[in-house]
Amino acid sequence: MAKIFCVANQKGGVGKTTTAVNLAAGLAQLNQRVLLIDLDPQGNATMGAGVNKADLEHSVYQVLLGMSDVRTARKTSETGKFDILPANRELAGAEVEMVELDNREKRLKMALAEVDGEYDFMLIDCPPALSMLTLNGLCAAHGVIIPMQCEYYALEGLSDLVNTIKKVHAKLNTDLKIIGLLRVMFDPRMTLSQQVSAQLEQHFGDKVFKSIIPRNVRLAEAPSYGMPGVVFDPASKGAQAYIAFGAEMVERIHTF
Ligand code: ATP
Ligand code: MG
Repeated sequence: MAKIFCVANQKGGVGKTTTAVNLAAGLAQLNQRVLLIDLDPQGNATMGAGVNKADLEHSVYQVLLGMSDVRTARKTSETGKFDILPANRELAGAEVEMVELDNREKRLKMALAEVDGEYDFMLIDCPPALSMLTLNGLCAAHGVIIPMQCEYYALEGLSDLVNTIKKVHAKLNTDLKIIGLLRVMFDPRMTLSQQVSAQLEQHFGDKVFKSIIPRNVRLAEAPSYGMPGVVFDPASKGAQAYIAFGAEMVERIHTF
């Protein structure tokens, strides 16, 4: 059975996609079979995996609306060595179009069930909103990985996300839990980063991953080459951190 994790945070630009793509590639390097699901109409995970979002006959959009299935719509990331269920701007329409469908929060879960035996991990890159798309991600997953920057406002947004996860757990998906908070774009020279980081550890204890992802320009450059950072420059500090994070996930998988 595949372990299914959402990478979610309703705040924009916090490193969700960078985390999803690099964790997918990092896990693939550890010989895990990975399916990355791009659940964001921006299609950033798709492009970052080296798949052209402008050139998709089928995407997660058709899958959610029952017009295609995962086997037909998935692509392979040649650079990252994982499969991806791609997305593009068409997906924005799904929010409205799904409203009329039965089991609208569980469309993704039902679609992924068909390929469950083919993967060790499925990672879902959520859009920056607590929307119907994110809800589909949360309903399909066993757990949530929350990337966050260690800055003052990060903590404010966190309570909305935690409350949403609690509600989904209570009403729609009893499997769902927070797997962990991942500190990203970390700058150890900033006192504030250190303070917020310490606060996170106090509040969330071992729900805070040990791995910390530093701010590293190589991670930001990689997507324009259609490559995960861990493949683009494996020796860089950012890549090393994501590889360590992948190993931490595999190691902790039994405890989830
Ligand atoms: P959105 O909410 O729009 O989907 P996101 O949460 O997926 O955004 P990313 O796209 O992963 O965030 O990251 C936002 C920007 O920060 C991107 O330009 C990305 O390349 C850059 N970035 C992410 N992580 C790092 C890092 N550790 N070091 C340097 N730059 C980073
Ligand atoms: Mg993103």
